[in-house]
Amino acid sequence: MKVWSIPLRTRFRGITVREGVLLEGPGGWGEWSPFLEYPPDVADPWLRCAEEAAAGDWPEPLRDRVPVNVTVPATDPASAHRIVGDGGCRTAKVKVAEPGQGLAEDEARLEAVRDAIGPTGRIRVDANGAWDVDAAVAAITRLDRAAGGLEYVEQPCATVEELAACRRRVDVPVAADESIRRAADPYRVRELEAADVAVLKVQPLGGVRACLRIAEDIGLPVVVSSALESSVGIAAGIALAAALPELPYACGLATVQLLTDDLVRRPLLPVEGELPVGAPVVDEEALDRLAATPDRIAAWEARLAAVHALRQDRRP
Ligand SMILES: [Mg+2]
Repeated sequence: MKVWSIPLRTRFRGITVREGVLLEGPGGWGEWSPFLEYPPDVADPWLRCAEEAAAGDWPEPLRDRVPVNVTVPATDPASAHRIVGDGGCRTAKVKVAEPGQGLAEDEARLEAVRDAIGPTGRIRVDANGAWDVDAAVAAITRLDRAAGGLEYVEQPCATVEELAACRRRVDVPVAADESIRRAADPYRVRELEAADVAVLKVQPLGGVRACLRIAEDIGLPVVVSSALESSVGIAAGIALAAALPELPYACGLATVQLLTDDLVRRPLLPVEGELPVGAPVVDEEALDRLAATPDRIAAWEARLAAVHALRQDRRP
């Protein structure tokens, strides 16, 4: 077990450093990187994902490359234009509904993104649950027009009930992201017919095979997204995307550029809008360079012990 710590390029989710563990097993390395505030019961499925990777237990891939989206933060139109132009991605995910900004700023950003990505590029927006239902309906109509057509809107409202109500009032497809965090959540989204697209993340949902089962059960198209992992964790997301029978949308797995360093020799950065499928090759030098301090190693050992203790308690 190796504990690592990598600074972020910019603050994200209120953190400036990403920490986690690599576990080595007979099949290679797996990443366990639940966010620090998560208690053992939440961190447990994240560990199952790492154990599956370390065991080499990923399903056979059906494709050898996975299309990914470029992410455009809530920035000014000129910056948005440049970010889209640099990546070579054919799909852009644009952050909207940022606190302190108005719809006019979102519209200007979307017009710039459309100009940069061209008429055949796809544009999706992510509101991170910011709107109530009426605000969402009004905003989606305007943003769909500004973008020259939206592929989908991700998490327009906070709750599953609101997502369902919003979905019934707009033509733009709705994707559930924050509404899917635990293994039972996708079934709730399906039950309420709250979304057209499910955003799945392999660590919080317990691994590649667990997500494949969920995808089959819920019968919705899946967009595989990251939890801000190193390339070792991203490789697990790619393994899911590669094994899904259908992959109609670009995935949200192009996030290692948010980190200042990486644990593999060839970081999973998109080339012409795609990431390669395959097991990660860990760089031992990087593990030394990015090793956490002794107090942080002790903290992660304690977290791991707490998850193991929880599993022991749950045994009949
Ligand atoms: Mg999202």
